[in-house]
Amino acid sequence: MKFFALITLLALPLFAMKPAEDPQTVLIMLGAPGAGKGTQAVRLSEKMGIPQISTGDLFRENLRNETPVGQKAKSYMDKGQLVPDEVVLDMLFERIKAPDCQAGYILDGFPRTIPQAEALDSRLKGRVIAISLEVSDEVIVERLSGRIVCEDCGAPYHMVASPPKQEGICDRCGGKLIQRKDDTKEVVLDRLKVFHKQTEPVKAHYQAKGSLILIDGAVSKEETVKQLDAMLK
Ligand SMILES: [Zn+2]
Repeated sequence: MKFFALITLLALPLFAMKPAEDPQTVLIMLGAPGAGKGTQAVRLSEKMGIPQISTGDLFRENLRNETPVGQKAKSYMDKGQLVPDEVVLDMLFERIKAPDCQAGYILDGFPRTIPQAEALDSRLKGRVIAISLEVSDEVIVERLSGRIVCEDCGAPYHMVASPPKQEGICDRCGGKLIQRKDDTKEVVLDRLKVFHKQTEPVKAHYQAKGSLILIDGAVSKEETVKQLDAMLK
């Protein structure tokens, strides 16, 4: 008993000396491909004045600029190997040292797996909020497999939500409308399978920490925005 009291007494001044709580807010966007993560991340970034960090973009940037960590990534790719999580994390932690990340940042596309989430946890400080945009597989398939684009000018259409005036022809330039390989039903179903296997556990991980919020991503974009803003208040 006395021993514990002594520990408490010794610990107190240490706590008092600890610097003020870090005000950083880290938002993690979770959701299936086509759930609207990117759109919401960009919007929140503008609204909250904190940067949106897409690990995919970050990766390409590091390769293009031939940074030390970019060269490291390339050495794996040249050998036809997967780039280890640690390398991607190095890129991320290099990026969040920048002054624009001091108040916080939004992660889009990371973490995708439990090992990535755990590695991130071990180096994060501040408040973490994981936002899961909930959209059923049926709606994702409908959204993605209905996408068509103009072969010539790239203008996007949707067979149901925003069809061209004349079937198969671009309103803007008269070019031919095609479906991207990534958007065929078979590929979308495959991507969803990977998503459920890898990312559902990540959701559970943040739920266990009490930092998960669920947002209905199947409603209109405006409705999703309303729900999200109410939760983040
Ligand atoms: Zn066109």
